[in-house]
Amino acid sequence: MSSTELRRSVELLKPLGRVLFDLGEVSLWERETATLPRRLARRRRAYRDFARRELAPLVAGADEDPAGYDPRRLLGVAARAGLQSEQLPPPWGTMPLGVVKDGPLFHEVLKAEELAAVCAGLGLGLLAHGLGLAPLQLCGDLRTMRRWLVPVCRDNRAGRPRLAAFAITEPAAGSDVEDTAGARVARFGTSARRVQGGYVLNGQKVFITGAAYADLVTVFATLEPEGGGAGRVDRDWTCFVVERGTPGFRTGRSEHKLGQRAADATELFLDDVFVPSDNLVAAERSGWAINRNVLNYSRLPVGAIAVGIARGATEAATVYCRRTCLGGKPLLAYQEVQLTLADLWLETMAMRAMVWQGARHIPPAQGISSAVKTFCGDRAVAVAARATEVLADDGAHVRGGVEKRFRDGRLNQIYEGTNQLNRLALVEALWETDLAGGHGTSI
Ligand SMILES: Cc1cc2nc3c(=O)[nH]c(=O)nc-3n(C[C@H](O)[C@H](O)[C@H](O)COP(=O)(O)OP(=O)(O)OC[C@H]3O[C@@H](n4cnc5c(N)ncnc54)[C@H](O)[C@@H]3O)c2cc1C
Repeated sequence: MSSTELRRSVELLKPLGRVLFDLGEVSLWERETATLPRRLARRRRAYRDFARRELAPLVAGADEDPAGYDPRRLLGVAARAGLQSEQLPPPWGTMPLGVVKDGPLFHEVLKAEELAAVCAGLGLGLLAHGLGLAPLQLCGDLRTMRRWLVPVCRDNRAGRPRLAAFAITEPAAGSDVEDTAGARVARFGTSARRVQGGYVLNGQKVFITGAAYADLVTVFATLEPEGGGAGRVDRDWTCFVVERGTPGFRTGRSEHKLGQRAADATELFLDDVFVPSDNLVAAERSGWAINRNVLNYSRLPVGAIAVGIARGATEAATVYCRRTCLGGKPLLAYQEVQLTLADLWLETMAMRAMVWQGARHIPPAQGISSAVKTFCGDRAVAVAARATEVLADDGAHVRGGVEKRFRDGRLNQIYEGTNQLNRLALVEALWETDLAGGHGTSI
């Protein structure tokens, strides 16, 4: 039945019947946006407009030649648009009113999807700033917030970009701090020693997003244990703010990555770096708790980045099928192609539903966040791979718009804890209650 015939048939219904009938004349994006509270719907629209206007023109150049891409102009534009100060409410920052009611991360997952739908690499370069500030935001210590978070948000809000980065990973340690069992035995190379007036930090970090340009980095280091001996991550880890320009602090090479190439992943070196006591985040030896909570929060936007990647692949495949003809008709007219596109759209919808549901948890919970991150990351790669098949040789082409989504998706499965580790985090979170405990099962 054509839409005109359907409309005619619906017109025959009583007014209430007409109101209850959805004629389906708005896009999926508009339809889903309409389910959000008005303030979040406005934000979603603004994030999409920003991504289309500011990110889209940069995508090809930044992905093909990341070494020649300098993100500073974009950081300034994003700051002026209010994207880099959403960690605090006005008058210090631009956090939306209503976060307590909507969920502290709802605006963040909307932003992550919209940026990544255009380019996950450029998006990551902006979003990693929030990760860098997360220890300051979540440590619950007013002294730390006043000293570091307030001025950074205020500067960004005023259009003076100040970028933060988050540093846990080291050359010989990554997953170890994503998982409790690993943290008990992990030996991290970066250490902190208490001295008169502050601390001295030594060590190396790797793969730190945004470190090439960051003004400050939240660095996790093992504080020397009270009674001597080797420090333990779960007992002695401590978070410090280290500012660019501090003697002994320098950045090294940025990795040549498979995907999300527009975001730098850079080495950090700390050689006898003195930081005053003021740079201690919250309390000594609270690093393990801070890190775990940062990951509970950050894995939801990472899941949303995956949704953006899947959506970008799906939209590119759809446009391609509309424009490309085979045997005298558009690919879109073939039922086999329609079935494939249906799978791409429905997978992306299911991923988004999971992210939005996850973002409603207050505060975010380990099991939920890890489940969202893992599921969406894995499905994004599957969706991008399927979209690549639809485009055939154009799917293998770097300018085809889809192979990049595949590469970007593979990286999403690795950072913020590999998806294997996130599965273990889910098991750990459910162990006492749903798995070994047996609560919540009906058999
Ligand atoms: C693009 C990108 C950006 C990044 N940005 C940052 C950043 O800003 N800050 C930062 O600190 N880090 C960052 N990282 C690092 C990232 O968080 C780590 O790569 C990740 O945690 C995995 O650690 P790893 O590479 O050391 O892997 P490894 O720990 O060496 O793991 C190797 C393999 O072993 C598996 N494995 C490990 N332990 C277990 C276990 N107990 N059980 C089962 N399997 C296991 C893993 O799943 C993986 O498959 C980034 C990485 C990438 C790729």
